[in-house]
Amino acid sequence: MDYPHLFSPIMVRSLEIRNRIVMTAMHLSYTPEGDVTERLIEFYRARARGGVGLIIVGGCPIDEYGSMAGMVCIQQDRFIPGLKRLTSAVKESGARIAAQLYQAGRYTHSSMIGGKKPFSSSAVRSKLTGETPRALELEEIPLVQEAFAKAALRAKEAGFDAVEILGSAGYLISQFLSPLTNRREDQYGGSLENRMRFGIEVVEKVRRAVGPGYPVFIRLAGNDFMEGGNTNREARSFASEVEKAGVDLIDVTGGWHETRIPQLTMFVPSKAFVYLAQGIKSAVSVPVIASNRINDPALGEEIIRNGEADMVTMARALLADPELPNKAREGKAHLIYRCIACNQGCFDRIFQYKPVTCLVNPRAGLEKELEIAPAPNPRKVLVIGGGPAGLKAACTAAERGHRVTLVEKEPGLGGQVLLNRHIPGRKEMLRLVEDLTHNLEALGVTVMTRTLADRALVSSLEPEVVVLATGARPQVPDIPGASKSNVVLAWDVLSGKITTGRRAVVVGGNAVGLETALFLASQGTLPPEVTHFLLVNKAETLETIERLLHKGNKEVTVLEMTGRAGADIGSSTRWTVMAELRRLGVRVQTGARVTEITESGVTFQREKEGTEDSLGADTVVLATGAEPENGLAKEFEGLVREIRVIGDAKEPRNALEAVREGFLVGLEI
Ligand code: SF4
Repeated sequence: MDYPHLFSPIMVRSLEIRNRIVMTAMHLSYTPEGDVTERLIEFYRARARGGVGLIIVGGCPIDEYGSMAGMVCIQQDRFIPGLKRLTSAVKESGARIAAQLYQAGRYTHSSMIGGKKPFSSSAVRSKLTGETPRALELEEIPLVQEAFAKAALRAKEAGFDAVEILGSAGYLISQFLSPLTNRREDQYGGSLENRMRFGIEVVEKVRRAVGPGYPVFIRLAGNDFMEGGNTNREARSFASEVEKAGVDLIDVTGGWHETRIPQLTMFVPSKAFVYLAQGIKSAVSVPVIASNRINDPALGEEIIRNGEADMVTMARALLADPELPNKAREGKAHLIYRCIACNQGCFDRIFQYKPVTCLVNPRAGLEKELEIAPAPNPRKVLVIGGGPAGLKAACTAAERGHRVTLVEKEPGLGGQVLLNRHIPGRKEMLRLVEDLTHNLEALGVTVMTRTLADRALVSSLEPEVVVLATGARPQVPDIPGASKSNVVLAWDVLSGKITTGRRAVVVGGNAVGLETALFLASQGTLPPEVTHFLLVNKAETLETIERLLHKGNKEVTVLEMTGRAGADIGSSTRWTVMAELRRLGVRVQTGARVTEITESGVTFQREKEGTEDSLGADTVVLATGAEPENGLAKEFEGLVREIRVIGDAKEPRNALEAVREGFLVGLEI
């Protein structure tokens, strides 16, 4: 497949960009002191070499008042030499590079700015930080705007091809723009015209500072997705005004960080927010970028070909595979490792103040340290188990020149990942298996499915190394009644082997338990195509459709013995899972230790109250953890010189760890 629109160059003011793929600014935490590091340079160098058109770096704090730890700083001249090294490294490979000018306002916590009180348009408490900022005094406003202009000049001096003013996601410019956070009574508050003034003046000052020929971009929220906040209508007005003020490109994203509408998780359909960019495009004549959940060159091509936007962002997509543009251009799109929107390696780590990595690409951020070098002594490698750990180990070992055979006892590859097939909002996990399988084939790995690995097989294959990636098996708790006929395993429910009765109790509120509950509770709800059909034909009232969307045909309760359900789900995703469970009417009871299972339900102890309770159920579903499946290690002792146990076979954890261990073992052997 060709991507003629995606790979056509575009002029933005004086700047020619070689294609329409943009890596938007991402917080990476590779710059602990704010100075450019070799780690950051190598990360972006790899993406530039991989063929991206434009890289936007940041956020780059413009001053000392609106930043957070680990950002790429630009607020002082002393950062310019480091930034120069970064821009040269990126430009060497033909990519363009811009700096995103960042001022967070009330999204900064005082602890991040030396105990100072953050400022904003008005003193309105931030849900994100729990703090109330102070309102900027009228005479302070020009100073903050000047800080944007000075930072833009520094960016120009450091060799950036352009600057992007951050005016989205609820940061300072958004705070002036929104009636929710702007309660001012001067010329910067009240009407939309007044609320836009701060942002417009920032653009004017930046434009004056950098001169007429230098490209200036802005990032806008296409809809704040905040009740009572700005929608695409106000965003269109603002876009039109900043265009007049001198902006050359508008980068349109979704809502604020505080919004309760998911923006980046697997629940968000691909291309979900492209309509916002399309709305902005209708109001301006400068190019517009569409963002969020565009992880595939085919989607990018479609968006540009249809005229929905002029460029597309692929930030996480390029974290997952820096070679995405080259692979697409060279007819190898099937070998792209696509971002699966899991957030496990990226956003969840940002919230923990850890450097970003990627579930599908453990090399992200460690490009130099984890180079995939040819094996000095290629060997015969047998990988047992076709889950994510085994697949990644096989791919990496084969890439290094080892002769690899992979054996899987099931008919298909994927292991536990396949359990996601029927869970609402989790299907994207299957792409991990698809992409690894495509690469496995291209690398010439011999794959034997429906094959049991035993001593006879190992003897016949004569491997020099065995990698045991045999995964885990569900753990059955020691609860009276756990072996009764109405008790089933969550894995069997998710794999479709078993159906449940109308009333189901899920024992265990970890990720698997909650996802099983989601799966069960969504049964009998309106599927997307039927919803669309009913809506466009006005066949039912909106109230009826809404009711049918939320109500399935099962009553589902989750009993979790700790105080927090979903504790093993990353913070960027957990709240969306909990919201879905609420929407579907699933009851989640924490602090509930199941003491007995009977034919008619469960008895449990309410830990806090110290009381006993019972719950009726037709089916009791066990989601009570897993234990390693690694008995073959003992069986093969003495048969093979080197045996490596990885992934869940070593210790049940998540897919991030499984893929990482597969990759590392592939590098080591
Ligand atoms: Fe995408 Fe997950 Fe990688 Fe983040 S960690 S870039 S969401 S695949």
